[in-house]
Amino acid sequence: MKLKTIKDADVKDKTVLVRVDYNVPLENGEVMDDTRITESLPTLQYLLKSGAKIIVMSHLGRPKGDNNDELKMDPVAKRLGELLKVNVKKVDSCIGDEVEEAVKALEAGDVLMLENTRFHDEEKKNDKNFAKKLASYADLFVSDAFGTVHRAHASTEGVTHHLDSYAGFLIEKEVEALTPLLGKVDRPFVLLLGGAKIDTKIGVIKAYISKADKILLGGGLANTFVAAQGFNVGESLYEEDKMDLARELMLEAEKEGCEIVLPGGTIVADEISDSVVTADMEITGVEGNMKMLDIGVKTLYKYLDILKEAKTIIWNGPVGLYEKQPFERGTREIADALRGYKGKTYLGGGDTLSALKHFGFDRKDYTHVSTGGGAMLELLEGKELPGLKVLQA
Ligand code: ADP
Ligand code: MG
Repeated sequence: MKLKTIKDADVKDKTVLVRVDYNVPLENGEVMDDTRITESLPTLQYLLKSGAKIIVMSHLGRPKGDNNDELKMDPVAKRLGELLKVNVKKVDSCIGDEVEEAVKALEAGDVLMLENTRFHDEEKKNDKNFAKKLASYADLFVSDAFGTVHRAHASTEGVTHHLDSYAGFLIEKEVEALTPLLGKVDRPFVLLLGGAKIDTKIGVIKAYISKADKILLGGGLANTFVAAQGFNVGESLYEEDKMDLARELMLEAEKEGCEIVLPGGTIVADEISDSVVTADMEITGVEGNMKMLDIGVKTLYKYLDILKEAKTIIWNGPVGLYEKQPFERGTREIADALRGYKGKTYLGGGDTLSALKHFGFDRKDYTHVSTGGGAMLELLEGKELPGLKVLQA
């Protein structure tokens, strides 16, 4: 996929509307993890250096259309200012008189941040007039919000119908790193999938059955497959209505010669806490109120052996409830080991990244760590992403 990038644009003295993904975790009005802000800096710095006037916009959390004080962009604007070392002016809406005034006052080298785009219902509905209004403040549009390119919202897709649109450096980097995986890859090619829910990952399993040599499953996702095999999963997180689908996928994989590997052993506990007593047992022993909360140690070693031999690895989703110490081992040891393995390693997903951060592992130790969860997976499924399509050269 060839993209129009900001290098192709003449931005001097132009007002540039930049869509970033500043959907960052906040606590007590402070940005807890500024990775997404840091990742956008190359694009913003380039625009500033090139003499542009910048308007940045993003969504933050799920405010459901209403103004929500806890989801205002002020802490984000503050942190961006500190990182960029410029004064970032923040307005309290993303359209309207205040925005108009602030845009008029912009000079080359200025940065203005709009309020959370999701304070307007029109954002997710990709409302034409709302998009047109956003677009009216600028001369051109730059998209650098890789994490949201799989969604056709007003600020990611709608505005591109009204402005010349270009990809920023982060989107360019993500697309360059990930698209080779759609072609011929070095084998063995192993996909490791975990996390809580099946439905966001099912498409990937389907798409990769014909491509990957092995698909290793962990987390709540694996529990559904284990239940679908007829085992008792006790009180584990699983999706009963997805068991048929799980069985279909297992059959399809068998036909295609792709091995879907389920955990044979699991760490169980009867509650989720930091101090609970756990047991490592075979899947066949699970019963009563037991919850399967991590892969067992024998399974962990089996997965590590497979990953060690792999030449290409895609990993999305923690294999256990890593936030709690008794269930972090599987995710921690896999993340740790991948740093030393010979295969190329592609990681993505909000919680997968949080897990790396939680364990203190450096993103640089992997081939590519994507800022996108859903966006990465949909791109890797070969789907057309609405927010990328509009940036094509
Ligand atoms: P990502 O954001 O990386 O795509 P998901 O959002 O799908 O990952 O899932 C991450 C969540 O899944 C984490 O909060 C983790 O605690 C949870 N999880 C993983 N394994 C289990 C399990 N066995 N039971 C319950 N929750 C789990
Ligand atoms: Mg998640």
